[in-house]
Amino acid sequence: LTERLQNAIGKLRRKGKISESDVKEVMREIRLALLEADVNFGVVKDFVKTVRTRAVGSEVLESLTPAQQIVKIVNEELVKVMGQESVPLNKSPKIPTVIMMVGLQGAGKTTTASKLALKLKNEKHARPLMIAADVYRPAAIDQLKTLGQENDLPVFDMGTDVSPVKIVEEGLKVAQENKNDYVFIDTAGRLQIDEKLMQELTDIQKLATPDEVLLTVDSMTGQNATEVAEGFNEQLNITGVILTKLDGDTRGGAALSIRAVTGKPIKFIGQGEKMDDLDVFYPDRMASRILGMGDMMTLIEKAQKDYDEKKAQDLQDKMKASSFDFNDFLEQIDQVQNMGSMEDIMKMIPGMANNPALKNAEINPKDMDHTKAIVYSMTPQEREDPDILKPSRRRRIAAGSGRSVQEVNRLIKQFKQMRDMMAKVSNGNFSGMENLFGN
Ligand code: GDP
Ligand code: MG
Repeated sequence: LTERLQNAIGKLRRKGKISESDVKEVMREIRLALLEADVNFGVVKDFVKTVRTRAVGSEVLESLTPAQQIVKIVNEELVKVMGQESVPLNKSPKIPTVIMMVGLQGAGKTTTASKLALKLKNEKHARPLMIAADVYRPAAIDQLKTLGQENDLPVFDMGTDVSPVKIVEEGLKVAQENKNDYVFIDTAGRLQIDEKLMQELTDIQKLATPDEVLLTVDSMTGQNATEVAEGFNEQLNITGVILTKLDGDTRGGAALSIRAVTGKPIKFIGQGEKMDDLDVFYPDRMASRILGMGDMMTLIEKAQKDYDEKKAQDLQDKMKASSFDFNDFLEQIDQVQNMGSMEDIMKMIPGMANNPALKNAEINPKDMDHTKAIVYSMTPQEREDPDILKPSRRRRIAAGSGRSVQEVNRLIKQFKQMRDMMAKVSNGNFSGMENLFGN
């Protein structure tokens, strides 16, 4: 995404000012980038619409740093869609807190249950019990038992000849007796969602009334992850999601889709096979990841800054040399009229942004049109060298522009004041600024 966005921003920068179609263009890029990151199509559509509505409003078009603001909006909306804050595990008021792991085969249920149990043990001095309820493959029970042994976590199992519901029932009794504060139910998965699996999971859920039904989803399955999450959520009304194998998927698009489609919080992310490769899910970090930006904000801020600085530097050089002429003046007026307030223009001048004199700086748009008419009636030579504007020339300009000679005189006087003032300002002296635009 970084490259795409950089291109889009590059276009904005060259124009200096953005239009509605610019916003459209950026949003087109963002849309493609999200699709590339495997975000679900419908989710992308809604997302782009939201961002566009916000961006085309005042926030972007009236801003001096539009590109920056578009990306900020995109980022903010990503964070919002993904839930804003991290969401902790549910906890039962009385022990044990029961956590049921569900998901397709190979999604990472068994591994993640162990990771999470170990995390609770290490961080909260919890005493978890894991229940081996995947009876379809002997290897599944062995896998959980091995992980239990390696990490000193107790595992309850009854082999493969007992029904999963029965195993859970017995396991919960054992947990009561041993006063385990957390119970993890490691259930079976299938390659696809099917009725038999769902029935079994529903039965377990009825019996165990878990505090958490955590759906484990393999983030590398991309678009499919969204459908899987939707399916499990419809059947089991899950309480949260754990997104695994994010170490193999740098794009993280599944996080956005799953959250948007299920409305359920992503609570943890798996980022490797090792036991400590489990992290709390933070929406803002995932937003950065989806945008592929790492430090994209910095990049954009810098690009914007370079641009403003260069423009301001050109102007400052002219002001210092007192070579600011009526052509520059005209350009400034055009900019004021096109871009917003005089304050905005003045803020582009180094050292001016916080000058209190700017608070009173206002220009009447009608006056500006008159001013322009006067300047247009000058010859190129007069514009470049205002000092040659003797009375005869001023009379000619007045006649040509349809303004009075007094008005022409006043403008030339103001212009010269402004030029002097600018030379002063650019040398660090701000006194007298407040009169510059007043009369
Ligand atoms: P289950 O069938 O849902 O119980 O899935 P498993 O827990 O058996 O995991 C399937 C495979 O995925 C195992 O080889 C795990 O080591 C691996 N795995 C699980 N989570 C992650 C993860 O976050 N990153 C990586 N790289 N591998 C993972
Ligand atoms: Mg398993």
